Amino acid sequence: MLVLVINCGSSSVKYQLFDMARQEVLAKGLLEKIGQPGSVLQHERNSEKFSIEKVIANHNEALALILQTLVDSTFGVIKDISEINAVGHRVVHGGEEFVESSLITDHVIDAIERFSDLAPLHNPPNLIGIRAARSVLACVPHVAVFDTAFHQTIPSHAFTYALPYEYYQQFRLRRYGFHGTSHRYVTMMAARMLNRPLDETNVITCHLGNGCSITAVAGGRSIDTSMGFTPLEGVVMGTRCGDIDPAITFFLADKLNASLSDINNIYNKKSGLIGISGVSNDMREVRKAAEAGNVRARLAIEVFAYRVRKYIGAYTAAIGRVHAVVFTGGIGENATFMREMIMTGLKPLGMIIDAAVNAPLRAKAGDVATPDSPTRILVIPTDEEKMIASDTVEVASRAR
Ligand code: ADP
Repeated sequence: MLVLVINCGSSSVKYQLFDMARQEVLAKGLLEKIGQPGSVLQHERNSEKFSIEKVIANHNEALALILQTLVDSTFGVIKDISEINAVGHRVVHGGEEFVESSLITDHVIDAIERFSDLAPLHNPPNLIGIRAARSVLACVPHVAVFDTAFHQTIPSHAFTYALPYEYYQQFRLRRYGFHGTSHRYVTMMAARMLNRPLDETNVITCHLGNGCSITAVAGGRSIDTSMGFTPLEGVVMGTRCGDIDPAITFFLADKLNASLSDINNIYNKKSGLIGISGVSNDMREVRKAAEAGNVRARLAIEVFAYRVRKYIGAYTAAIGRVHAVVFTGGIGENATFMREMIMTGLKPLGMIIDAAVNAPLRAKAGDVATPDSPTRILVIPTDEEKMIASDTVEVASRAR
């Protein structure tokens, strides 16, 4: 069975074509700058990389080029697009309606459209991708996999903001959480590594990439997560501030004579690692600067680590007995110094990192806790596309 996974952003489309029987990625790529000058498709097949430059006006043309590339006699991996059996779509916001991945019907499309005011930057391009893909691959099942779905098990005491309750009733203003596909994937992998049934697995999953979020998982289900109504809440990220005092908004509006949209831009694009360090949103660059003596870069790293450590403490209180802390995402998988900084000092919580095992472990799965650590510390590379592909197979086969 061949499954095409599509992740459609406002000006880009990412894709992977999976051969599910062989558990193999046949081809993958990224088409960027849709509707802008210089649009280019980076396509990869068997570790061979191709760069195809072509003017691409819109998402329909983008998908047409991707499908054409998949069947191309030089770059392609299949003979005909009819070999694709199903399509999985990443969708950011499923509101309170979608607690799991769903077969895309007109009703599902309407619902995704309805949730666009909750995720105005993400759901509209996701929908464009769904519509474009459905029009070219009309005869196969399309499945929506939501970033929010895994977190729909979070209880009301954790998702309710202490704001006038009618805003929840009127606008569904509450915490939703994101990165759910990644948190779910690493939770399943952690259960395997711990050799525990999923519904008896309690973990704290730390997805640390450009965007960062921490999730408390009890009995295999999300019970709390650091991102909230939007992906701005929670820990420090590359360019986002995470948790701050809401009164800062009024203070800045006054001091900078700034509009709400300016402040939104500051919180989302100019804060986090880049905001504190003034160097970069990229952890590698910030670390380089810190090592060269840049005091603000050092501070950015310390704030980042401290915030994650605080969440681990809080989620230990939320879960009770934690079987493992899991690190994933670009930083979680590769920044060994950051894992060590975060975990150092958590011995009283039964989490003891083995520095010698941790230091060389990059970009692969492993356990970096000491043998006597009551809680394991796992590194697990995330694979959201694989999770989307496997959900797609499951939902599509149920629908037959
Ligand atoms: P995204 O959230 O966009 O998918 P990634 O998961 O790829 O991003 O994470 C990007 C982050 O991972 C960047 O801050 C980058 O510096 C960091 N990162 C990647 N490799 C390393 C490394 N070897 N050491 C430190 N940080 C790294």
